[in-house]
Amino acid sequence: MRVLLIEDDAMIGESVRLGLRQENFAVDWVRDGEAGLAAARMPEHDIVLLDLGLPRRSGLDVLAGLRGGGSRTPVLILTARDAVSDRVAGLNAGADDYLVKPFDLQELIARIHALARRAQGRAEPLVRYGAVCLNPATRDVTLDGQPVRLSAREYALLAALLSRPGQVWSVAQLQEKLYGWDDEVGSNTVEVYVHGLRKKLGSGLIRNIRGVGYVCPRLDGAGGAGDTGDEEGRA
Ligand code: CA
Repeated sequence: MRVLLIEDDAMIGESVRLGLRQENFAVDWVRDGEAGLAAARMPEHDIVLLDLGLPRRSGLDVLAGLRGGGSRTPVLILTARDAVSDRVAGLNAGADDYLVKPFDLQELIARIHALARRAQGRAEPLVRYGAVCLNPATRDVTLDGQPVRLSAREYALLAALLSRPGQVWSVAQLQEKLYGWDDEVGSNTVEVYVHGLRKKLGSGLIRNIRGVGYVCPRLDGAGGAGDTGDEEGRA
């Protein structure tokens, strides 16, 4: 999951960035409203954390610009102002949730997961796909109920693919989910992580659409995936 943090307070920004990176989120951090709006308009972020009191352009302005441009990326407002009117204005301008500073990092992370669930149309905290089950809060993955150990990048790749079964992702799009601007892109490529995931979770999990990218086919058959490739054969 890739998070855009728009926050001008250095201490808060740094602690949020570090905390989220420890949870294996890719984090991009910008410190003013002007840069924030430009960054938020790019499609690669799964969620935007938005401070309201920002230099160059207020958080509410950023939000209005974002929603006015048709973006549906979930926005969580982070604000020191605990005035009810600010929160109401933020929610009315299209924010999905808010946290009043100072906030607990674990609560922020839980809210991010909740917003991601809502954006994916899930009420259930676990992501299930055939015999594979993924817990975004703990990053535990099981296959037929048995724990499977994934690297952080493998997990991030799987979570991205399973966020929208049936959607074909280009390698560039997947890479955008794995790395923030400041992250060094390792020598391992998306192809290597896909190989690892297939080895650990079954070769039929991820399809390669030649020349286009990768997809976890929809399991309800509505995606027209054709043959099912790898049958799970569960009892
Ligand atoms: Ca601020």
